[in-house]
Amino acid sequence: MCCRFLFFFQSSYKAVLNYLYCHRIKPIGVTNYTNSVELNHITHSFGDHRVLSDVSVSFKKNKITSILGKSGSGKSTLLQIINGMIQPNEGHVILEGKPLDYKNIYSLRLQIGYVVQSVGLFPHMTIGGNISLLGKISKKPKKEIELRVEELMKMVRLPLSYLDKYPHQLSGGEQQRAGLCRAMLLRPSLLLMDEPFASLDHETKQGIYHHLLDIQNKESRTIVIVTHDWEESIKLADHFIWIADGKIKASGDKSDLVSLKGTYLSAL
Ligand code: ADP
Ligand code: MG
Repeated sequence: MCCRFLFFFQSSYKAVLNYLYCHRIKPIGVTNYTNSVELNHITHSFGDHRVLSDVSVSFKKNKITSILGKSGSGKSTLLQIINGMIQPNEGHVILEGKPLDYKNIYSLRLQIGYVVQSVGLFPHMTIGGNISLLGKISKKPKKEIELRVEELMKMVRLPLSYLDKYPHQLSGGEQQRAGLCRAMLLRPSLLLMDEPFASLDHETKQGIYHHLLDIQNKESRTIVIVTHDWEESIKLADHFIWIADGKIKASGDKSDLVSLKGTYLSAL
């Protein structure tokens, strides 16, 4: 009787494990999501102007995904929906497997890096003050912040002597690198970037791409980068989505984007 029970228990246990394996179901307690962000059936309008129509898309964990599309196609709106700055009229945002909690939006935003084209460094604060700001707001120990600031400055190849300078004393490219350091100070698992390099010249951009990919190699995170620039997307992104007329016109990986070059550029 006892043996029979043991046999039944063992075979059922194996069957359950087999089922979990075959259906790729993660046992409860293991928070290892393939997708960092999932947008389900997002629709959003500003007044009568419908910008996004039933958009469903997921962004893979620790990969760089670009959001491509011409000006006014809703790229920035989509990015702001991901970090809760805009609450969509319809649909759901799932972050790391949980629905976005709009009641705790401020603590959530501390965990999401955000970089925009205008950099947004505070002009009256030194570079050091700007980069360490979120560390101070979230009351991290001073030494820990100092070490992290130094680590990031090294990654983007900014000399430590710049910490006492003010933003206007740095070039556009250097300011954008300081902006990157600020966004990554708290090691956010998700980094959102809205046309961050659009105002930089071609050569400066190449340098920054190199720094960004270098950081991504050293500490991988999920990066969603809005850009209209096909070449930027090819250089940086593992995956892309192309938004047009409020919908996803195409999506895929780098090789899919290579074959779409002509179609994309003629649609801009
Ligand atoms: P993109 O980033 O692709 O250029 P946006 O997401 O910024 O496009 O904007 C999409 C459309 O929504 C545009 O027509 C824009 O004018 C409009 N829009 C964006 N934000 C607002 C807003 N806060 N109020 C009204 N209309 C807006
Ligand atoms: Mg925009």
